[in-house]
Amino acid sequence: MHISLNQDILQRVFGYDSYRGPQQNIVDHISAGGDALVLMPTGGGKSLCYQIPALTRQQAGGGTTLVISPLIALMHDQVGALHELGVEAAFLNSSLDGEAAAAVERRLLKGELTLLYAAPERVTTPRFLAQLDSLAERGLLSLFAIDEAHCVSQWGHDFRPEYRALTILHERFPGVPRIALTATADALTREDILERLQLQGARQFISSFDRPNIRYTIVEKKDGLAQLLRFIEREHPGDAGIVYCQTRKRVEDVARALCEAGLSALPYHAGLEPAVRQDNQDRFLREEGLVMVATIAFGMGIDKPDVRFVAHLDMPKNIEGYYQETGRAGRDGAAANAWMAYGLQDVVNQRRMIDESPAGEGFKQVMRGKLDALLALAEATDCRRVRLLAYFGETYVQTSGAEGPSGQNAPVLVAACGNCDNCLHPPTVRDGTELARKLLSCIYRVQQASGVSFGAGHIMDVLRGKASDKVAAYGHACLSTFGIARDASESELRAVLRQLIAIGAVAVDGQAFNTLQLTEGSRAVLRGEVGVQLRQAVAAPLSGKTRRRSALPSVAAANLDADAQIRYIKLKAWRAEVASQHNLPAYVIFHDATLAAIAERAPQNLEALGGISGLGAKKLQAYGAEVLRVVAC
Ligand code: ADP
Ligand code: ZN
Repeated sequence: MHISLNQDILQRVFGYDSYRGPQQNIVDHISAGGDALVLMPTGGGKSLCYQIPALTRQQAGGGTTLVISPLIALMHDQVGALHELGVEAAFLNSSLDGEAAAAVERRLLKGELTLLYAAPERVTTPRFLAQLDSLAERGLLSLFAIDEAHCVSQWGHDFRPEYRALTILHERFPGVPRIALTATADALTREDILERLQLQGARQFISSFDRPNIRYTIVEKKDGLAQLLRFIEREHPGDAGIVYCQTRKRVEDVARALCEAGLSALPYHAGLEPAVRQDNQDRFLREEGLVMVATIAFGMGIDKPDVRFVAHLDMPKNIEGYYQETGRAGRDGAAANAWMAYGLQDVVNQRRMIDESPAGEGFKQVMRGKLDALLALAEATDCRRVRLLAYFGETYVQTSGAEGPSGQNAPVLVAACGNCDNCLHPPTVRDGTELARKLLSCIYRVQQASGVSFGAGHIMDVLRGKASDKVAAYGHACLSTFGIARDASESELRAVLRQLIAIGAVAVDGQAFNTLQLTEGSRAVLRGEVGVQLRQAVAAPLSGKTRRRSALPSVAAANLDADAQIRYIKLKAWRAEVASQHNLPAYVIFHDATLAAIAERAPQNLEALGGISGLGAKKLQAYGAEVLRVVAC
């Protein structure tokens, strides 16, 4: 019974022809009253996994689904999107005044709401729990959906202590099913979610974390800002994107620089006035082609589907953070770029932040391990996607048919994605072990001779035989290591040093001017037991338009003929007007892809229009006539 009702709701309410990936199994399991942990990448379609069961269970008389989310700022749009679909939904958070909140509570208690969104700190107040009691007594509490469930874990990148208190839901309402959802979870975080939320008995739905439409590129940082500008100008003129920076000051500087270069860029960080922050976020969601320059304070749960690139101008803390942030690109499934510039200073900064944090040694150890994994990804010379997925416990293999290297038609399995920088432009690799040993010897000699440690700049000067003032002052020109790496370029030496820091063979002392020290791990390299591979500089692979989005699903309107293009532009203008009247982002009214399909097919009547994906019954009724008019004129 549930199953056919679910299918009906998918088509009638949401206007979609079919489920995506594992959605059907999850929806059927939850609507039948099961518990679940759902791990699905961003853009995988998690919301549907609880929204359809919410509707099905409500129709069966089961009452309200409570959606717990930390993303107060997004609740308005999420609920707005449900209203557009004709679903009874509301939110309760601190943005509502007393009267508005009381009105929502009245509707909740009458059992009128299909979905209620609320933040965890509100859900666990005695007052709200008493209201849930009242619903539960009358059999009107249908489901708990715990979104962004990784917030419960301190291993995740966005730990929120108030999530821990959510166990009360299970203890107080054992009969109400629960679904916990997240886009990020390595094995450690996953275990933590199950334990902390007492979901050990729940069924786990773990999707592939691959985001095939995202192209990963990691470049060596030279002049980061200039590199970023070139990247945006070449690959993403006029596109919406996010640029992540480490600090508030850097966010401000970079946003200003992008604006001066003629781009529309906005800053976002926790130090801005809340009203400014909110305004910038709203503009990013509502206007087209804006670049948001932000700290990691921005973006959690941003469900703007047409973010075309995510750039990291500074290195994040770990792979979870990197993957979560890059995952905000291309939720609509069209081609998108994840681009990161990283350099020695990033490695040094991240190490220092861990060393200087007040956390216990065990915690720091875990954090160092996570940083090392990210460094290994950045230094990798093979497929980035294979490594990323391996980090989440996934083995990536792609079946390649006629294009197999064997030249035969039989499919071959390849462990390479064809859509990352290393696959597209394989770097040449060189053995850097000898250079690494020279570097370590130099650190040792210099310290031994002078009784103090030195930073990277000086060590490299000594290695390259440069007669700097410091070299003269300390008499380091007399050392046996002076000039032993005369032939190496500074960039090669930096690459070696990054790798040595990455594998823990060199430590950076943040308390003492970032001086370099040998470690336990140095010995293995000195003895030749551990080698160092160096990637050779790759020629700049990007050249103008030809490379843009090649061989990938094109953006929504790229393939339309001239007439259809005109219809598409008209439809977009119409959508912008409706969105602004409703005070909602344009994509909540219709996705680009839906508009493109309408423009292409130019339907003449409601029936033909209704066959297009993204048009449910409510939208057809509300907008059908107008859309037909726009298409016809
Ligand atoms: P997540 O929360 O997993 O990042 P969302 O639930 O926001 O993903 O869904 C991502 C996008 O995909 C949304 O715009 C949604 O409307 C769309 N979507 C989800 N499921 C389907 C489906 N079965 N068919 C078509 N589009 C879908
Ligand atoms: Zn690859």
